[in-house]
Amino acid sequence: MENNAKSPVIILGSTGSVGEQAVDVAIRTDTPILALSANRNAKRVAEQARALSVHSCAMADENAAKDLRLLLADTNVKIYSGMEGICQMIAEQGEADTTVLNSIIGEAGLKPTIATLQAEKRLALANKESLVCAGEIVMNLAEEKGIEILPVDSEHSAIFQCLRAGKKKEIKRILLTASGGPFYGFTKEQLSKITVADALAHPTWKMGAKITIDSATLMNKGFEVIEAVHLFGVAPEQIKVLVHRESIMHSAVEYTDHSTIAQLSVPDMRLCVQYALTHPERTEAVIDELDLTRVGSLSFSDPDTETFPLLRVAIDSIGAGGAVPAVLNAANEIAVAAFLQEKISLPKLFQVVENTVSALEREAKAEKSLEGIFRFDEIARIHAFELI
Ligand code: MG
Repeated sequence: MENNAKSPVIILGSTGSVGEQAVDVAIRTDTPILALSANRNAKRVAEQARALSVHSCAMADENAAKDLRLLLADTNVKIYSGMEGICQMIAEQGEADTTVLNSIIGEAGLKPTIATLQAEKRLALANKESLVCAGEIVMNLAEEKGIEILPVDSEHSAIFQCLRAGKKKEIKRILLTASGGPFYGFTKEQLSKITVADALAHPTWKMGAKITIDSATLMNKGFEVIEAVHLFGVAPEQIKVLVHRESIMHSAVEYTDHSTIAQLSVPDMRLCVQYALTHPERTEAVIDELDLTRVGSLSFSDPDTETFPLLRVAIDSIGAGGAVPAVLNAANEIAVAAFLQEKISLPKLFQVVENTVSALEREAKAEKSLEGIFRFDEIARIHAFELI
């Protein structure tokens, strides 16, 4: 046990895969957890709140907030309700040294990201959609408030660590690794027969259903390119996506002198959470040691954007700018939900996303405001829904 008091953390999306792992890391690193939020799972939040003695909790779903009030009626835990409640909790709980770990899934994570920066709290960001949908707005606000965003995505955490080896102007390019997903090497014909169960059998990372599908379609990698462009202030052309099946090298930075610095570890998200919570320090490991002799060899190849078009669509959407990446994200959220409900196939999912983006692109690219982004998020959802 360490004696020095750790700055506390608020965990948003605490019942999700990253959220649960974040709770685990906070416990193992003696980081006090002040508050939690989740969407609907009041029962699990009540368990976490009791076990961790948190001060407050927020539920995005208002009925779930009512359930949580009953479940925690015998405690002093303050309960907030709805998206506004989550943002209010962020503003009210904790001092400036508090870290907000945002592991909410999807576009729903954007408002809490903005609320965190406005409250001038440190932001550990696992919600990539905040940067996909409103990267410029989020990064400008962080700069204005003087807040560093700590990435909690394995690739971005890796890049963030590799960037300690050089200066920003010395970056030649970023090598963003991708596992390739469960359908690596598949043909279009094979993809059309994939079931939900096939798609959810992801080889290396422990993740929720939405991101598992996004990994299988390479949409997740497309989002990560957008995320990296904003987080690290590089051009899309400076990012090279590299398929690396072993998921041991989590990304690398190539500098102007052609020295390439990579970050390697066993694939375990808890390291990303730990580094975000302890940066710029490193503390005792919460994950297993990497034994490279057991890994044996590492392989690298180019992604197949013919069979998996969404990576290309995502990269094109950064070029288009404005609300186009938000349209892409919204269409994908609707299409993935439809695939998970077995309403559409993977090729149809690609089509819904591509067609929504091309239909709305011209109008959406001129839209730069946050209100405009939220408006196009809704328009895109309706458009995608009608294509299903
Ligand atoms: Mg990732």
